[in-house]
Amino acid sequence: MKLIEIVQLIEAFQKEQYYPEIVYLLSKNWIQTFINSVKFDNQQNIPMKPINHDIVDETKSNVLQYQDDIYNSFLKDNLRRNVDYIYISQQIWSHLNSLYDGYCIKRQLRNLNQINEFIIFHFIPVYQFQQHFIEGIQQFDSSWNMSQIISHLENALQNQLSFQTPKTNFISLYTLKNENQTSFVQIVQEVKEKRIEVENIKEITQLRNKKYILLDIKLLNKGFFFEKTQQINQDKNEGLLNQEYIENCRRGLSLFENQQTLLSCMLKCYENIDAIRNEILCNLTYKYQNLKQIIQESYYGFTDYVYYDLMDYEFLEEKQVLITKSRYDAVYIYNNENRIIINNQRNIKQLVESLLIHPQLQCDFNSVLFECSNEYYTEEIDFAKPAYSLKEGYKYQLRKLMWQERNINNEDKIEIRVHQCIYENIGYQQYKPFAAILKCYISQQAKFSDLHLLVANLFEEINFENYKELRLNKRYSLYFQTDQQGSIKCTFCQQKLCNNCQVPFNDKSLKFGSRVINIYVVYEEMLSVTSAYQPEIFDNYFLRQYFEVDWAKDKILILNINQEQIKPYNIKYYFDSHLYQLQGIIEKVSQNEYQCYCLKQQQWYKYTKNKFQMVDHLDDDLNVVKLFYIRK
Ligand SMILES: [Zn+2]
Repeated sequence: MKLIEIVQLIEAFQKEQYYPEIVYLLSKNWIQTFINSVKFDNQQNIPMKPINHDIVDETKSNVLQYQDDIYNSFLKDNLRRNVDYIYISQQIWSHLNSLYDGYCIKRQLRNLNQINEFIIFHFIPVYQFQQHFIEGIQQFDSSWNMSQIISHLENALQNQLSFQTPKTNFISLYTLKNENQTSFVQIVQEVKEKRIEVENIKEITQLRNKKYILLDIKLLNKGFFFEKTQQINQDKNEGLLNQEYIENCRRGLSLFENQQTLLSCMLKCYENIDAIRNEILCNLTYKYQNLKQIIQESYYGFTDYVYYDLMDYEFLEEKQVLITKSRYDAVYIYNNENRIIINNQRNIKQLVESLLIHPQLQCDFNSVLFECSNEYYTEEIDFAKPAYSLKEGYKYQLRKLMWQERNINNEDKIEIRVHQCIYENIGYQQYKPFAAILKCYISQQAKFSDLHLLVANLFEEINFENYKELRLNKRYSLYFQTDQQGSIKCTFCQQKLCNNCQVPFNDKSLKFGSRVINIYVVYEEMLSVTSAYQPEIFDNYFLRQYFEVDWAKDKILILNINQEQIKPYNIKYYFDSHLYQLQGIIEKVSQNEYQCYCLKQQQWYKYTKNKFQMVDHLDDDLNVVKLFYIRK
């Protein structure tokens, strides 16, 4: 084709009413030079610069070359149609390009015959085991939606990658949470150290005013780069591990929109407890698919949880357990029940000392008597033992020593075991004890009347005169207990079958010659004294940092606590068993409000309505509904 024919084609094309959808751009300056040369100089083989050299921006190119060249060429800024460039057809381009080298610039026409616009981002692809990072730019057609972006990039990658990826859905785009004053070098450094803060792009609007895009590429049979940073790789060196832990810790402290539902508390615990999060994220089955998605999104700080309660959840298997009384007991201080929480880090002496501030006590450890009995037995207490070794089914009494009990020589000391009884005329059991044994001490040198007052003051505060007038043999009488088999002599009459001598009320010295004396306090009629200990529903629970069980082998142990069913029995300690650490707690704070606590790096965090805070100390009496234990 002659040059003049090409010029005619170009001029004819300019007069077209309807352009094709795809047009080629031609530099106005370049074509004017060409036309002038052809028309006026009538030359053949005109020497020309490369086509479009003046309108193309040679300094720019996409990191990833799109399959369609429309998106690969960069124009200089602020160019205008018919001033800087004109449209030509593909046919004209071919003719010109066969004569001259140049830059092909294809564009798609939009409304009013305008060419498509582009947005340019700094673009950084990342993938696992990456050695080198590319600094570059990538342009996106401003009309693309997210799935078009993904599809264009995936197509581009499949033609250029030297490694294998899954067929589809193998990329994920991120923006930086904080782009201010950052640089490529800084970003790469942060990516390498896995402390970069990124935000997954779900909506095109997230790209507004953003400069950087990170492209995460999932390799075949491997995960995404950013997915991997979530997993704690135990084999990594300690420095990196710490860095990762800190990062995980910080990330875990994202906030849910409404953290007061049981569901959001569950998710918060799942997300925050490394072992559980990894279990969910690394599980390759579909078992936790939805959960995985939620945790991943939450992990990157997304707040799109609005729909989470509509999704089909697969909670981790939970163990239904009843909290037993194992951590509780009641100590009676002067017959008044005081519920205490037995902290397993204390011994019994420390437990008693913690009770000495009670208004009715306020004295030192050596001035009190702490004893352990039920209706039939009394136990010696070893104060050095841990508090949790206190036996079940016993009543613990704590009171100040009475004057009769003080300063007793060891050789004169008698232990008096007081049984409160009612008289029953049935068979051998003539005296029926109805309350736990009470213990007191008295000297052999004390008088019988002192013994009466000592015993009386175990139940009520009463002086000598009142006792003699109102109690003695009126409401109750004191008897020495004999061995009904006749093998033990009566403490008082020295007979074997005296059938219980009454304790006299006089000034004579006791001088029993025996170290332990049992005395029945026989009531004339059943009094409304403290009835046998009836446990109530416990509404609190001591949160054990560590938990030993032999019935569970799982790494993760989630205890679903039913506070309504807490039962006061069956304390059990396992020694050859698995040790679990408490790492998460969900507490019910009202009828339908919950809050949770998570242990991160040995620090407890409390998540309330819309914030979190560090807590140094967990209250022992949380109204727990779920406990998360992780095997050590
Ligand atoms: Zn006797």
